[in-house]
Amino acid sequence: MLKSLLLDSSIKKQPIKEVFRVISRYGPITRSKLSNKLEIKIKQTALARIISELKTNNLIKEGGHEESEGGRPPVLYSIVPTAGFIIAVHIIRAHTKVVLLDSCLHTVKNETFVMTTKHTPEIVIAKVIEITNKFLNEYKIELDQLLGIGISSVGPLNKKDGIIIKPQLFLSKGWINVPIVKIIKEIFPVKVILEHSSNAGLMGEYVSSSLPHENMLYIFNSWGTGCGIMTNGEIINSRIGRTDGFAHMSMDVNGPICFCGSRGCLNTYTSLNSILESLNNSNPYFKSINWSELSTLEIIERLKDEYELTNEIVLRSATYLGVGISNLVNIIGSEAVYISGPLIYHYPNYYETVIKSISQRVYGKPNIALSQGDYEEETLDIGLGALVYASYY
Ligand SMILES: [Zn+2]
Repeated sequence: MLKSLLLDSSIKKQPIKEVFRVISRYGPITRSKLSNKLEIKIKQTALARIISELKTNNLIKEGGHEESEGGRPPVLYSIVPTAGFIIAVHIIRAHTKVVLLDSCLHTVKNETFVMTTKHTPEIVIAKVIEITNKFLNEYKIELDQLLGIGISSVGPLNKKDGIIIKPQLFLSKGWINVPIVKIIKEIFPVKVILEHSSNAGLMGEYVSSSLPHENMLYIFNSWGTGCGIMTNGEIINSRIGRTDGFAHMSMDVNGPICFCGSRGCLNTYTSLNSILESLNNSNPYFKSINWSELSTLEIIERLKDEYELTNEIVLRSATYLGVGISNLVNIIGSEAVYISGPLIYHYPNYYETVIKSISQRVYGKPNIALSQGDYEEETLDIGLGALVYASYY
């Protein structure tokens, strides 16, 4: 029922779709607040009828009351979690994660597998299909209950045609022009969208916040550095399908050579590769470690274990990351910056050093909300789910 409603693009169904959109975005919500959030005009009598229809069709429910300031406490409306389901898939260098979300974008189940040199596109996609089928069978979800599949990956991407073009630094060969949307759609004939990881994170932070900023950045720093940019509530999509241009912001014209051919790109100071290379050059002990055998988190554990030997080089990269972020903030005038990635979460003083570096350089000392993004947790899943919903409007 939910899917057929969302798929209905007739003018007649727009009011009910709009009411559902507002409840899914802001619920649990009272009728008067819902009415204020509507982007199309709906009379109170029509709104009452629509709410009743959504309830009858088991798409929304009444759940609790808002505290009353006198009089009868107003009823709160929210989405029925089993009204529909969404699959979110995240493919990054370190791992691939498949998540089953309910219609409230809460995680029902997830499964992650580590990416190795053996994880070619064929193997990864086959595994994603296998896990998705397993989730659908386990929860007895039919295709008409599956609202869509959102896939996030690192760029460059051709989002229009659903192609992962050529992610840098994936361990396995073969990740060139992978038509992932077409392949997944052949198995699951539902809406399938492809989005940059940074943009999914950006969207996740945006819809998770009760008071979202309309101008914000979402930075992810790991093996590469990605940046999602939102201005006036809209995600900026680069014409060339990348969100990693940020990684190639020039920091020093005479700096180290970057894989892009230029010198001194941000990436040559902030990526995990560049950090490991600097450590290898600084001390023969590090050179003796076979880093490629370790997972991303194992590498960070080693860096933590050797904090005395690693902190100068690792925290230098945090300072550079802060310089790159403050350059962007100074240009775009962002109100909020979410910074995420394994070093941010797991390496002592990394996040604090980034924040200090930004604060020292932001022009005019505006009040900016700086916080750790929630990359490893559910923000990215929520972002993909929200993007699948948005694709119906
Ligand atoms: Zn570069």
